[in-house]
Parts: sequence; structure tokens; C-alpha cells
Amino acid sequence: MSTIDNLPPLREVIAAHQLSARKSLGQNFLLDLNLTAKIARQAGDLTECDVLEIGPGPGGLTRGLLSEGARTVVAVEKDTRCIAALNDIAAAYPGRLEVINGDALEIDPLAHLTPPIRIAANLPYNVGTELLVRWLTPPEWPPFWQSLTLMFQREVAERIVAQPGSKAYGRLALLAQWRAEARIALSLPPGAFTPPPKVSSAVVHLTALPQPRYPADAATLSRVVAAAFNQRRKMLRASLKGVAPDIEDRLTAAGIKPTDRAEQIPLEAFCALAREIRKS
Ligand code: SAM
Repeated sequence: MSTIDNLPPLREVIAAHQLSARKSLGQNFLLDLNLTAKIARQAGDLTECDVLEIGPGPGGLTRGLLSEGARTVVAVEKDTRCIAALNDIAAAYPGRLEVINGDALEIDPLAHLTPPIRIAANLPYNVGTELLVRWLTPPEWPPFWQSLTLMFQREVAERIVAQPGSKAYGRLALLAQWRAEARIALSLPPGAFTPPPKVSSAVVHLTALPQPRYPADAATLSRVVAAAFNQRRKMLRASLKGVAPDIEDRLTAAGIKPTDRAEQIPLEAFCALAREIRKS
């Protein structure tokens, strides 16, 4: 018997439904239900929330979210083989789990959710990064979600929480930290997964701020940051040449030395620069 609910242990679920992990779908499963409950707890108080879970697989994290009291879980899974196993969980938690068989990059699950909404996922890293960027760059802020609790490759997690002056600092850190509070909540060794991936992982928890930390136009800031880090070793007066004709003056007006490099510039100064460029 597993410890968090009355459903069978995940190894039995995987054997019964023949869910051998597929590399093409980035499948590295979490089979320890105490660990998945611990990850679910990183998402905060779920009792009043709908949780959007992407990539539930055999349902380890799904069971963690439900046993931790999520009001409702909407789980989007691409692998049709997993759906029967997920429906067994839905039957054990009547009215609290909706399973959607589809590609999270293509479907819009918003119609299935009622605010407040939190998002939790252990996804293949490429899909996770693409969804993170989408969730961080909606047309309006605050976004539809209150928090994101996401598993990443450790190196990607470090890029999300990175500070100026480090190699990991770049577009992802600025996007995440401009309008959210981001921290690494848990670190996991490869052995926590079946099969184990090559690298360590970490759970990142992001909380949406009610408004951006510093004022800036989202599209301008995004353009400036993309150009600055595209050529991160160059001086800003060179890497940002294409962004504004009088870039040296704009940099100076924003309090940035034109000879500085992107890696040294804090978020506040990038926002000041975006405002200066918008003025011109
Ligand atoms: N959440 C489960 C766990 O922690 O054991 C499974 C994690 S496994 C790393 C990633 C899961 O995401 C797999 O079940 C895979 O089939 C699913 N997946 C991959 N790409 C997806 C996509 N584009 N949309 C929805 N699910 C996807």
C-alpha cells in the first residue's frame, strides 16, 4: 500500500498499464509518493485552488496534489497510454480530477479551470521552458495563474533565479524576476526518477507579483533583453546598436555605461533603458 492514498503503488500502476518510459516524450517518472506529496506542498495551500498539471504521466504528482487537498486538478497528458491510469485516480477522488488527453503546447485548458489557479508540472525540460516563457509573457498582467511549481534541469532552474554578474544570468532570469518572485524550492538527484536522467533536477516555485517590479513596456523590455544577451560578451553600445539609433545616449540616460556588458546590468536598469527607448 502506498502511504498517501488507497491507490496501488506507482510501480504496480506502471506494470498494470504497461507504461514503460518513452524517451521521445521525455518520460522520467517520480515513483515515490512521499516525494510527490512534498513537491505538491511547495505549491502552497491548494485547498481553495484549481491546479493545472501538465504531463501527469502515471499520476505520481497528481496524487500528491490531490492528497495535499487541491480543490480540483486539471491534468493535461499527451501520452494516451497514461489516460486509463489517470482515470483510476479520478475515480478515487470523485469530482476532483479532470484528465485531458492532449498536447499542452496546443490546447488551451483555461476553460476547464476556475480561479484562483496554480500550475504544477514535471515536464520534459524543453516543453517546460517553452511553457514557462508563455506563462511569463501574457498580454495582460497579472496572469491567469497565482503560482508555478515546475521541475527543471538544475542548470535551467539556476538560470531562472540567477542574479547579475553570473554566467546563468540572462533573458530567463529577467523575464521571470520582472513580474514574479522566483526561488529554487527543492533539489533532486537523478536517482529520484525512473529511469534516472543524466543530470540533477530542481523544483522552481514562482509567485506572480500583482504588478511588475519596475515599470516598462513588455515588448520593448523583451526586445532589449533579447538583443543584449544575444551577444552577451559585447559591450551594450554594440549589442544594442540595432535597437535604437541613439543607443549610447539612451544607455547614459538610463544610468548605464555604454561600455558595460549585459551580464552586469540589473533588472531595474534594463527597465529604465526600456523606458528611455520607448521615449525616443
Ligand atoms: N508527472 C509525472 C511524474 O512526475 O512522474 C511524469 C513526468 S515525465 C518527466 C513528463 C510527462 O509529460 C510524461 O508523462 C509525458 O508523456 C508528458 N508530456 C510530454 N510532452 C507533453 C506535452 N507536450 N503535453 C502534455 N504532456 C506532455
